[in-house]
Amino acid sequence: MKPRFGITPDDQAVADAIVRFSAEELAPRAQAVDDQEISTVRYVPLLAELGVMGMNLPERWGGAEISPTALVLSLAAIAEACASTSSMIGAHFLATDSILMGGDDDLQQRYLPQAASGKKLGAFALTEPRAGSNPADMATRATRDGSCYHLSGTKHFISNAGEADFIVVFAKTDPAGGHRGISAFVVDKETPGLHISAPEKLMGIRGAHAFEMSFDCRVPESQRLGQEGTGFRTAMRILDNSRMDVAATCLGIGEAALAAAVDWAQSRQVGGEPLAAKQGIQWKLADMKMRLEAAWLLTLQACAKRQAGVAFSAESSMCKLYASEMAAFVADEALQIFGGYGYTRSLPLERYVRDARIMRIYEGSSEIQRTIIARGLLAARPT
Ligand SMILES: Cc1cc2nc3c(=O)[nH]c(=O)nc-3n(C[C@H](O)[C@H](O)[C@H](O)COP(=O)(O)OP(=O)(O)OC[C@H]3O[C@@H](n4cnc5c(N)ncnc54)[C@H](O)[C@@H]3O)c2cc1C
Repeated sequence: MKPRFGITPDDQAVADAIVRFSAEELAPRAQAVDDQEISTVRYVPLLAELGVMGMNLPERWGGAEISPTALVLSLAAIAEACASTSSMIGAHFLATDSILMGGDDDLQQRYLPQAASGKKLGAFALTEPRAGSNPADMATRATRDGSCYHLSGTKHFISNAGEADFIVVFAKTDPAGGHRGISAFVVDKETPGLHISAPEKLMGIRGAHAFEMSFDCRVPESQRLGQEGTGFRTAMRILDNSRMDVAATCLGIGEAALAAAVDWAQSRQVGGEPLAAKQGIQWKLADMKMRLEAAWLLTLQACAKRQAGVAFSAESSMCKLYASEMAAFVADEALQIFGGYGYTRSLPLERYVRDARIMRIYEGSSEIQRTIIARGLLAARPT
């Protein structure tokens, strides 16, 4: 990833360290991670040394307290080398952001310093077999039982869950309350009655494992994040942040695929000249570059708004939506430029295509992002 115009020297310095690490440590192993479905949790100690596991956290809790722009640049650099690794980190951030935004001082003290130092890994469990796009459909219950809650239900597709030390779990404390009946709890891995399956077999990001989990366990009241009924609101605020992390991963995939396509177009000879001499290929490269740059601009705009402390839900949705569609387009066009070579598993093109696919589904599908964007637009101009 080349330095970007308009980025402050401080943000660039953070990114430069991550670019070096990613090129040396992650990129050479990314193909094996994918082929053998090796969990990228193995990188956590190294990432923690660089400050990555607490990049989203304040210094008070051992975090790096970097700007949203530096965070996006860093995740994009990691994803350019290995999208599984940035996805694993994104799931950890979902959990630690939940505690930062919803937890009291005691919970923050107990979990965040260890999460920032890589001693504890987090996961975030919202989705259920019958509740994905609409969390209000969730069936997991948290029923009061003295000074504890009895947690019962099933979550699925939960990234990191099998390897995590703590999991932020969303459950209904008021089954009749719709969104307002949802509360969030921090559940420790050793909690009796918590069961986690073997990892799902995934199409892409095969080094970021996702698991089904079931609960029939007691959780102390002190593990609840905020007041009863505030879980959904907290989740939506966290997803505003995490959609920018997904956009960053898409930018990394786009950068990697475009760089590979340019190299190939310049070196592959067809009919006595490089592919890059052909106008049809130049037009593909131009469209890929334009969409990649547009995705960067939307994402950096969301960063600027987040940094300024103003509402950025729509910007976060727009950059996630656009960047995920960009990554799919750029990865697919890059594979096309490679021809049959692109279809083989000895080159990373088909991995880019597979890794990009989930980005339009998780943390709110493209359809849900369009709904959020349109809702904001229409609310701003009531008829
Ligand atoms: C690899 C992976 C990792 C994941 N990690 C996590 C995690 O760590 N934590 C977590 O909680 N979840 C996680 N998820 C779950 C993910 O966020 C959901 O899969 C996603 O939100 C979609 O939910 P669903 O699969 O239930 O699809 P559904 O909600 O059943 O939707 C199916 C289709 O219908 C569309 N649709 C739904 N509602 C509407 C509507 N109102 N208008 C138009 N179209 C609509 C959707 O866009 C989608 O295309 C992960 C999923 C995967 C595959």
